[in-house]
Amino acid sequence: MSKYLEVYWANTHNLKNINVKIPKNKMVIITGLSGSWKSSLAFNTIYNVWQQKYLESLSSYARMFIWWMKEEAKVDEIVWLSPTISIDQKTTNRNPRSTVWTITEILDYYKLLYLNIWKRKCIKCNNLIKKDSLSTVIDDLIKQDIWIKFIIKALFYKNKTEVNIEKIKKEILDLGFIRFSIWNNIYTVNDEIILDKEKRYNIYIIIDRLIIWDYIKKDNSDNKRLKDSLELAFKIGNWQIQIEILSKKSKQKNYSNVFICSDCWHIPEELTISSFSFNSHAWACPVCHWLWEKMVFLEENIVKENLTIEEWAILPPWFWWSYFFNLIKEVKKKHKLRINIPYKDLSKRERNLLMNWTWNIIYRVKFLSEKWTSNIYNSKFEWVINTLSRRFFTSGKEKTHYDKYVTNIDCPDCGGMRLKKESLSIYLNKLNIWELSKISVVKSKDFFNKIQLSNNQKK
Ligand SMILES: [Zn+2]
Ligand SMILES: [Zn+2]
Repeated sequence: MSKYLEVYWANTHNLKNINVKIPKNKMVIITGLSGSWKSSLAFNTIYNVWQQKYLESLSSYARMFIWWMKEEAKVDEIVWLSPTISIDQKTTNRNPRSTVWTITEILDYYKLLYLNIWKRKCIKCNNLIKKDSLSTVIDDLIKQDIWIKFIIKALFYKNKTEVNIEKIKKEILDLGFIRFSIWNNIYTVNDEIILDKEKRYNIYIIIDRLIIWDYIKKDNSDNKRLKDSLELAFKIGNWQIQIEILSKKSKQKNYSNVFICSDCWHIPEELTISSFSFNSHAWACPVCHWLWEKMVFLEENIVKENLTIEEWAILPPWFWWSYFFNLIKEVKKKHKLRINIPYKDLSKRERNLLMNWTWNIIYRVKFLSEKWTSNIYNSKFEWVINTLSRRFFTSGKEKTHYDKYVTNIDCPDCGGMRLKKESLSIYLNKLNIWELSKISVVKSKDFFNKIQLSNNQKK
């Protein structure tokens, strides 16, 4: 194989019988004035010729799905031509939401991947959300010791308050059952039960009580009673059931055959391709709207530590105003705030009082107005950072006064990951779509090589 790609007598567009030798395995840049037919050589000639060769190797059916250059390259010969890819030049608009990732359309492929193959965690309790079926429940039970007894329960009422137990007993009886459980205690409809009206209860109907040995066969041959009971439980439990394993340490496992968190019953939003898209208003991080940063005021950037409060240690101009100062004096009287020592020597409590606390206390502030009339105002003390944020984000005119005190930090809600929590709770081999986009090309290759799919995912 030659070290060069050789082009002879290229005539495409206005090229004037160009002969070039381009070194391989090097980064070669073609430069020239705009309109000097650079892309006619690179794109319309070299890439074009390779593409024609490639197309010839495909069936006519396959060609229907490929975009190709219909125009023919005018060139006598290109020798030592290797497979060629073209990364098109793209004029990017200056959208702050654009990244290499979005411009190259790699994101589109990732979106498809995450939409179809994923594990999802509950955004409320971090539990893995899965949809169970009879066979996943049975698979779980098979793992138990063969002499274990277990109870199949259907969820009847969840988080129910003001329970009218007599009414519920009747409902259970009407469905053809006599046993139910509350807090893992089992009762029959004839039992006297006293419940606290204030508390919330989960009430389960006992559907069946079985022993693994009798009712679960590994070869699935005689699981009929088990399957029937599970099916009935799912139906009565509105798709949610609990299995209580009665061993020395009894334990409960929740299952659901619809897509819902079996621990906290959070129902996740249904995914679409736009679930991973920043353009989608519905799926972008609600705090930063895909800009990943949030503007905040940080103590270290608004305070000069060596000054006392009397000497205007708080830098933004609003706090120089004598009204604020009179208010601070009132706060000082009530809360032991030292305004005559350097800010850095204030206690944690004092700093916090200034920066982050809101006292729902009305202070009477004496204030000399512009007309030199003295007035008493009733005022609350709003903490410094809140005051700044309010003035910065709501007042157009004053905003510029505060510009230099504002700091951009990673968005606290998405941690700079730009999407809503529901989108970021979708994992492929422990990485969410944002984390996957952040790893290097080499690591990505490794990542994709290691993906192992279940039979369902392969489909
Ligand atoms: Zn949950
Ligand atoms: Zn965010």
